[in-house]
This record gives sequence, structure tokens and C-alpha cells, in this order.
Amino acid sequence: MTLLEDFLSGETDRVLHATWEVLGSRDPDLVDPLVPHAARIRRATEKLDLGGLIRPNSANVDFALTKLEHRGQGLCWCEDYPGPLHWDPEREQKAGNVRILSTSEPGWSMTYECACTVCGRVFDVEQGDHHFTWWRWRPRGVKRGT
Ligand SMILES: [Zn+2]
Repeated sequence: MTLLEDFLSGETDRVLHATWEVLGSRDPDLVDPLVPHAARIRRATEKLDLGGLIRPNSANVDFALTKLEHRGQGLCWCEDYPGPLHWDPEREQKAGNVRILSTSEPGWSMTYECACTVCGRVFDVEQGDHHFTWWRWRPRGVKRGT
């Protein structure tokens, strides 16, 4: 159970390694064993200074923990799209996770309409560029507070 050990290690490099493993995986064998430990991981990591250049790395740990919580609640993988800004629709389509239904005129600023290949939920995705390219995912038909 080395990823759990990484999360609980108190060492920045190991915590971030485990974070990216979780964020990048849809493998139940990797993700599911961590689900019961989400609260413990949160306690072990919330006081760490994890650094980060443009955005704090602790935000990514939060996204990884939220993913574990979603998994524990039996929600679809696509529940993780809103929030983080690193989900590239093209890459997700290549991975077979979404289908791009339509796009606006291609450019730095553009929008995508994507459907989850697992549950069929449709997302409006806005692509923008500020220091790095980002994507904001909004599930269709759900009002989100700010
Ligand atoms: Zn889905």
C-alpha cells in the first residue's frame, strides 16, 4: 500500500507523487484501496506546505481527496471534471473517457461540448490561456454557485 504511505509520509515529493497518481488514474485497483483513508490523508496533508508556482499544490491534493470521496459515494468518474483546470478534452477523448460532440472555432479561447462515455452526462468546457492552458468544465443543466 505504498501510495497510502506516500500520502501519510509528510514529505512533499511523496505526497505530490501520490496525488498525481490518483488524479491520473481510473484504475479501481489503484484508487479504491485509498477511499477508506481519505479523512486520514486529509488530516496528514492539510498542514503541509506543498509549494506550487502558479497555484498551490495543496489544491491538487484537495482534488485527489475529492476524487476519493466521490468514488466512495459511488459517483461517476466525470464528477471530478468540474473544479480542477487540467482536464484537456482532447486528451480525455483519446483516453476514451469522453466524446467531443462539438467545438467552437478552434483557437486559444474556445469551447467544447463533451459527453462522458460512462454515464452520458454532457459538459460545456471553456478553454482559456493564462500562464498555462486551462479548461473549465461545467455539467449541463446544473446550476453552480460561485
Ligand atoms: Zn460520467
